Amino acid sequence: MFENKEQSRTSLSELGEFGLIDHLIKNFSISQETTVKGIGDDAAVIDTKGKHLLVSTDLLIEGVHFDLAFMPLKHLGYKAVMVNLSDIYAMNAKATQITVSLAVSNRFPLEALEELYAGIELACSIYKIDLVGGDTTSSTKGLLISVTAMGVADADDIVTRYGAGEGDLLVVSGDLGASYMGLQVLEREKQVHQVNPNAQPDLEPYSYLIERQLKPEARKDIVELLAALEVKPTAMIDISDGLSSEIIHLCKKSEVGCRLYEEKIPLDPQLINVCEEFEIDSTTVALSGGEDYELLFTIRQEDFEKIKGNPNFSIIGHMTAANDGMNLITRANTAIPIVARGWNALQNEE
Ligand SMILES: [Mg+2]
Repeated sequence: MFENKEQSRTSLSELGEFGLIDHLIKNFSISQETTVKGIGDDAAVIDTKGKHLLVSTDLLIEGVHFDLAFMPLKHLGYKAVMVNLSDIYAMNAKATQITVSLAVSNRFPLEALEELYAGIELACSIYKIDLVGGDTTSSTKGLLISVTAMGVADADDIVTRYGAGEGDLLVVSGDLGASYMGLQVLEREKQVHQVNPNAQPDLEPYSYLIERQLKPEARKDIVELLAALEVKPTAMIDISDGLSSEIIHLCKKSEVGCRLYEEKIPLDPQLINVCEEFEIDSTTVALSGGEDYELLFTIRQEDFEKIKGNPNFSIIGHMTAANDGMNLITRANTAIPIVARGWNALQNEE
């Protein structure tokens, strides 16, 4: 976990917009040869070298997408980049550049934005991404952060949501549900802290879940691994809203059905323990929790041998004819239709 340093306060008005940008980006360097012109002109210039350019944008709003009571700004910067890179990797592409735009109220001093940019910079350096532009403006209330990610791929390598076929295997990377339960733990500790500010929570039993919520990683490694294994998925999506809603996207866009096996859904032991503690069904959390940023994809049956036994992958089902529907096969071997409930529905259920 990152440490939040004791902060001094430098008012943003002392620097002005361009002084602020220069200050915040002074530690960033260029690592991609496709970056011709980064920050410092009217627009960035990117040489696609004959490849296809991919673009994805997300907007994160304080109080809606993040809570600064337990989300350190450095983590927020890191996560805002990950959320966007994940969408580029979900197209089987290489992420190369980002732009970052902020709207920030005068509640935030320079030192707060330095923390935010330290997280963005860490993400850029680990994932070899160049920051090439953005905008900084004032907001009357709270913090808004918008990240646009760009990536490149050869036309033949791009994987969309449209290509899954009947009989294809449904595969997911990593494990599911941990980020959602990490958020539940953090929300609970926030409430305890409000009642008793001196309480010292022991978060060790929840360390993996909290890390998955506060510092998720986009699965660049999975895209590289699939290329090394010479497996090109037939369709792919990243898991931001929960497994069930992403499966529905894949099935609808590809015009197929699916059978998803409950017993095959990958769950971390820490998640299973915490679900018991919170008396919440772990399958429900995996299906509807979201913010996992794992990759969900389909492969042809003949590629099974290439990924069989690989600890990075779980084969969780297969695709069927569209008129067979989208079904969860429970541990009791009954088929129930998959419905998208998402994060909000899960909240209301409690
Ligand atoms: Mg996505």
